[in-house]
Amino acid sequence: MSDRVLDLSADPIALTAALVDIPSVSRDEGRIADEVEAALREQAGGYEIVRNGNAVLARTNFGLPSRVALAGHLDTVPIADNLPSRFEGDHLFGCGTSDMKSGDAVFLHLAATIAEPTHDITLIFYDCEEIEASANGLNRIERELPDWLHADVAILGEPSGGYIEAGCQGTLRVVISAAGTRAHSARSWLGDNAIHKLGAVLDRLSAYDARIVDIDGCTYREGLSAVRIEGGVAGNVIPDEAALTVNFRFAPDRSPEQALAHVRGVFDGLEVALEQTDVAAGALPGLHHPAAAALVSAADGMVRAKYGWTDVARFAALGIPAVNYGPGDPNLAHKRDERVAVAQISAVAATLRRYLTA
Ligand SMILES: [Zn+2]
Repeated sequence: MSDRVLDLSADPIALTAALVDIPSVSRDEGRIADEVEAALREQAGGYEIVRNGNAVLARTNFGLPSRVALAGHLDTVPIADNLPSRFEGDHLFGCGTSDMKSGDAVFLHLAATIAEPTHDITLIFYDCEEIEASANGLNRIERELPDWLHADVAILGEPSGGYIEAGCQGTLRVVISAAGTRAHSARSWLGDNAIHKLGAVLDRLSAYDARIVDIDGCTYREGLSAVRIEGGVAGNVIPDEAALTVNFRFAPDRSPEQALAHVRGVFDGLEVALEQTDVAAGALPGLHHPAAAALVSAADGMVRAKYGWTDVARFAALGIPAVNYGPGDPNLAHKRDERVAVAQISAVAATLRRYLTA
């Protein structure tokens, strides 16, 4: 017993420290995947287990009426002189403590210690979440093992401060460009200033009243913001080109197409061209689904909207209600002094145990 690297039945706080002490920067998850796979094979009874690249998947097949997916990435951002882990006061410090080995630890611990769950459980531990989206291990799993992603609700153990963070906002970027006529600024009346034309665009942005919308008890606050401005030729030239990049973070009750139509409407009638450069759909919280509603009640209604874009949206795109729920403050992720309050690890483990055994 004592020479086990990962003792899944140990306290999930100790298990978090053990996981953190196996370095696993993105694309280098081989060793941690080996340890997780070995631990599950040896210590989690009743699970069918599959290894896929540096991902490890495990599921029960008890024929229960609903299935819950518990998903966590095994990789971390680059180590910043913050390994091995160390306890200080009420916190565990180190790379991955918050994002998201404490979440992984809770899932592994529950798999090894809940003999008779009330939902079938699928565990998805995957690779390469912290780098470009095209490398994300969930892409490969979706391609090669699509039936392993089937579930009634998916819980991603990303740091969420002990709240259930549901759904996520979409994001749309457009470039708004104005055209004019170049001229010497000493005879400015011969030109047509493209930068000046952006003034009307900025006025619309300043006057814009962003919508706040409630969906399934989560409050989403939209935002329409200029994020970049370009223009100008030289200090004595009336510019003939200017461009403004605008980012719209939209609530998940709008589709990407509706979001674009809305943004076009905001700038309607102005003498500018608008081009979409980037878009990602949001995800509806889906908390009215019974399996998700039971989770909300197990967590005493600690629910809030998720603002950033996360893998929750990938599950939502498959039609699966998905939430983030894990220990750790999301604002501390990726920082040199990354840490997790150990009490949150215990609290999340207790809530999920209630949910999975109720
Ligand atoms: Zn993460």
